[in-house]
Amino acid sequence: MKTCTKCGQTKPLEAFSRRASSSDGRAYQCRECVKAYRAANRERDAARQATYRAANREKIAERDAAYRRANREAIRARYAAYYEETVRARYAAAAERYSTEGAFPIPVEVLAHRVGYDGAHHRVRRCYGPARSHPCAALGCDRPAEAWALVNPVSEYVHTEWVKDARNPDRPLRRMSYSANPADYRPLCHGCHIRLDVHGQNIIKGVTA
Ligand SMILES: [Zn+2]
Ligand SMILES: [Zn+2]
Repeated sequence: MKTCTKCGQTKPLEAFSRRASSSDGRAYQCRECVKAYRAANRERDAARQATYRAANREKIAERDAAYRRANREAIRARYAAYYEETVRARYAAAAERYSTEGAFPIPVEVLAHRVGYDGAHHRVRRCYGPARSHPCAALGCDRPAEAWALVNPVSEYVHTEWVKDARNPDRPLRRMSYSANPADYRPLCHGCHIRLDVHGQNIIKGVTA
């Protein structure tokens, strides 16, 4: 048991967060009091931090780089653990949804509408989640996907539309194909997307182009 210097209550040790430099290895104030203090001063602390960061940008960047150099292995291990626990689970949940027949049934009369290039991509994301939540669907590739790619250009639901290049709005419009049927899309990583769109390589399992 330990007495909080702020509220004066005596609580079990676990009610105090760890603090290596204290003789008993715990903070002076209980977690509740620390939490209350942080909540009461959130805006002031955020403003102070922003000011400090703006004034010390280079110093902070150097310090961060040094930290990364010194802790390369630990950082890698931490990310690997995060990937195993969180990212993989997210992939698994989305992949299940993606492969479940009729998880997001779209009536044929709705599929017949020309939804437009953006509308089609919006529809795919609504059905199957963001491409990033899937592994790349290309054969032999195990990278995370980055975008939804139209892989069945002869589908009866494919249309074309003149589309503005969102990243380069000054470029001339491009004629883009889209499909109103989300099943005509696969999640691909950037490299495989290029292999498919630019080089026309047949990299997808179970889709006849
Ligand atoms: Zn307290
Ligand atoms: Zn890939």
